[in-house]
Amino acid sequence: MDSLGTLKLLSSQMTFEADGEPRVNSPAPACFSPKEQDQAFVHPAQLPNGQKILLLKTLLSSACERDCFYCPFRAGRDFRRATFKPDEFAGLFSKMNRGGMAEGVFLSSGLAGGGVRTQDKLLDTAEILRKKHHFRGYLHLKIMPGAEKDQVYRAMQLADRVSVNLEAPNTERLAKLAPHKVFMEELLRPLKWVEEIRRTVPAYKFWNRRWPSTVTQFVAGGSDESDLELLTITNWLNKNVRLKRAYFSAFHPIRDTPLENKPAVHPMREHRLYQASFLLRDYGFDLEDLPFTTDSNLPLNADPKQAWAQMYLVNSPVEINKAEKQELIRIPGIGLKGANAIMNARRSNKLRDLSALKKIGIIAERAAPYVLFDGKKAAMQLALF
Ligand code: SF4
Repeated sequence: MDSLGTLKLLSSQMTFEADGEPRVNSPAPACFSPKEQDQAFVHPAQLPNGQKILLLKTLLSSACERDCFYCPFRAGRDFRRATFKPDEFAGLFSKMNRGGMAEGVFLSSGLAGGGVRTQDKLLDTAEILRKKHHFRGYLHLKIMPGAEKDQVYRAMQLADRVSVNLEAPNTERLAKLAPHKVFMEELLRPLKWVEEIRRTVPAYKFWNRRWPSTVTQFVAGGSDESDLELLTITNWLNKNVRLKRAYFSAFHPIRDTPLENKPAVHPMREHRLYQASFLLRDYGFDLEDLPFTTDSNLPLNADPKQAWAQMYLVNSPVEINKAEKQELIRIPGIGLKGANAIMNARRSNKLRDLSALKKIGIIAERAAPYVLFDGKKAAMQLALF
């Protein structure tokens, strides 16, 4: 198989893996033939700073010696595997980058010869890209289970983002998914190292004079864990290792794996977990503010922010012309930008009704039951729209 064939195979296999990269719904680049577009190995993606790029997501190798119960790459599973050498992949990607086919890369791998050895191959690839091919674009590197601290440091010197997939919220749950992964030592500890390095080493030592961000991923529902367990560890990671984002990938069974008969998890669960994790990270919510049911899960049929507002704001609506930012962002329909817009607008004039909110970009219908305009309930004013 030539290098392009290897890339197509590995990248199509990568679609098995949820990846920790947000996507936008724009078409694949026109320079791809329809068949290549079907392979979908370069994805339009949006970076955390809002920049849209063409992102190549691929594996250095789909060979793996571990036997995680949910994973299509697990050892012994019968499918066609492929492996790149570091300089082979770096050369191919560099050509694609110069030709405008890919502007960034997310590089992961199956484990072969242990975490340290596999991590070295990923690091060698990154170093060849940065130093030999002078690639200055976006690079997301996966940290392998069992990688050493020096390797984490080296990854941080080369990448814009590093990720360690925890997969499950704690040791007991991980044992149901990946019996040979060690939660504390192999997965959580590298995330702590990243933060320790960020705190102790000046950012100018990193490739673009910025620290890479950190993300993780969970297989939601894969180990019968509750949403409370997932959000408890997410909240801890937000506070203690400055996690940029937790990704939740609803479990779906893969043929010919030990979990092939386990029912798929409803995709809405993924959505509710994202909503709740953003409330914890950006909106000042605590775990006890979230509307968990008696089984410690979020209701699938309710937006968690809306459910909180129904409990606490219906009888104590927020005065829109006086509220602090932290109060405003708890109102459904008002996000971080919306709260800033309200605070800017009311510096010059009082906001008098829902139409004034609508004009500055607020989803006024959603906010209406929970706000007051100088003491007057807003819900009455909906008829004006
Ligand atoms: S170590 Fe990674 S690639 Fe290998 S079986 Fe487990 S999840 Fe899959």
